[in-house]
Amino acid sequence: MNDEIAHNLATVQQRIRAAARRYNRSPDDITLLAVTKTVDAARIRQAYACGQTQFGENYLQEALTKIAELKDLPIEWHFIGRIQSNKTKPVAESFAWVHGVERIRIAERLSAQRPSAAPPLNVCIQFNVSAESSKGGVSDSELAELASAVSELPRLRLRGLMALPAPAHSFDAQRVAFHRVAAAREMLRDKGFLLDTLSMGTSEDLEAAIAEQSTLVRVGSAIFGRRPLK
Ligand SMILES: *Cc1c(COP(=O)(O)O)cnc(C)c1O
Repeated sequence: MNDEIAHNLATVQQRIRAAARRYNRSPDDITLLAVTKTVDAARIRQAYACGQTQFGENYLQEALTKIAELKDLPIEWHFIGRIQSNKTKPVAESFAWVHGVERIRIAERLSAQRPSAAPPLNVCIQFNVSAESSKGGVSDSELAELASAVSELPRLRLRGLMALPAPAHSFDAQRVAFHRVAAAREMLRDKGFLLDTLSMGTSEDLEAAIAEQSTLVRVGSAIFGRRPLK
């Protein structure tokens, strides 16, 4: 029954290991986040049974339903979608990670609403690497200020940068975009921020992301198959 998911997960893990070897990385430094938008709870359970523990969701209502259905499993949930400012509370309460913080006001609300019994919420700042306004994220010039504001918030833990570059037609073009994200993290590290995470790479371009120091790849369709069109 879960043969296809098990097979696909093994294939993706193999791709991660091969890319790590090729670019002199340790595979242990690269986390696989399984992206489960449109994937039902039963299939998430199958992936969990194969050893996958980190899952990412884009749409809050859909995510909350599945988190409730799967609360018997010790899954780490990552929110990778866009956060509306009036929906920060359920995000702060139900997730371990938020990828894609791009406004200080959202970060402040997440920190204020993070339950005191929970560990600090892990946060990545979304970097708009392709300068495409539709993709969201902040530009180079805004990064340091946002990083500094986020790192002051008591209930957040700034972990790094997240990026979703525009699709590129060649491996080299994919690398160029990911290289800019890695360089932005270096710039912030030089300013004293301790950032251990580069959240970048999907089904299409995880090898290029790993070549450019990604520490967390977000993979959906290569594990669960093509998503239905909305
Ligand atoms: C859907 C999504 C992914 C996964 O993309 P696939 O092409 O299915 O691997 C990764 N990151 C974000 C932000 C997404 O929305």
